[in-house]
Amino acid sequence: MSGIVAGKLAFVTGAGSGIGRAVCRILAREGAKVIASDQNSKNVADTVATLEGGDHTALTVNVTSSKSINDAFKSVIERYAKPPTLVVNSAGITRDKYMLKLSEEDFDQVINVNLKGTFLVTQIAVKAMVEAGVSNGASVVNIASIIAKLGNIGQTNYSASKAGVVAMTKSASMEFGKFGVRINAVLPGFIKTPMTDAVPEHILGMAAAKSPLNRVGTPDEVAEVVTFLCSNKSSFVHGASIEVTGGYH
Ligand code: NAP
Repeated sequence: MSGIVAGKLAFVTGAGSGIGRAVCRILAREGAKVIASDQNSKNVADTVATLEGGDHTALTVNVTSSKSINDAFKSVIERYAKPPTLVVNSAGITRDKYMLKLSEEDFDQVINVNLKGTFLVTQIAVKAMVEAGVSNGASVVNIASIIAKLGNIGQTNYSASKAGVVAMTKSASMEFGKFGVRINAVLPGFIKTPMTDAVPEHILGMAAAKSPLNRVGTPDEVAEVVTFLCSNKSSFVHGASIEVTGGYH
């Protein structure tokens, strides 16, 4: 199969929905074998059922649990005889509240999924690549958010988690260079996915108006950039934060 990531093995989190599902679709279109993972077993199976090409896998993984991720990597290495060298961290949640009303539980949950989950998956994946001697040319892409940079009312927990992802990505780039592993963050603006489906129409209109293109984005528009960052086409892009916001920054 041809394509900019042909023959590569990719591990995607949050692959049962939205941006993660679109990333699986574009990576598969570009020739990768995709391990689609999500905490939602049915949704991730539905994702894999729609992918071009063969030899893809759906796995149930909770990114807040190192056991769940380690079990997943064990089963991947058994099946493909090597660890994945493309990793996309897209699993994420929001628990929006004004800070003065935000519970400790909602703060912890968002940090656990968005920041700690990204840390755990990246650490386990890069360790496995280095141990197997396949790290050279590998790429990790972390889905952060433009809110990491701008902040947002009602999202003190979310903005902190995503700013953490951006800072972690920069620091990890300094450590991973010697292994030949690139790592970058993508900062989407407002993208129409199940995460944003609950947003009322007038707020959607306000979000669209923040972009000079006067619209919100699609999951595919983020996934195309993620796939470029996974590919060797971006071989000198490392430790970067790439905005995909329609000009809202
Ligand atoms: P989405 O449609 O809600 O997809 C997120 C997926 O992650 C869901 O399938 C969700 O499962 C899964 N997930 C949640 N917690 C998990 C866990 N602990 N372990 C494994 N999977 C888990 O959201 P999206 O809009 O595609 O967002 C994808 C990423 O982009 C997120 O990191 C989000 O913060 C970021 N982002 C989105 C936007 C936007 O406007 N949509 C903007 C900037 C950044 P459940 O459905 O079961 O929760």
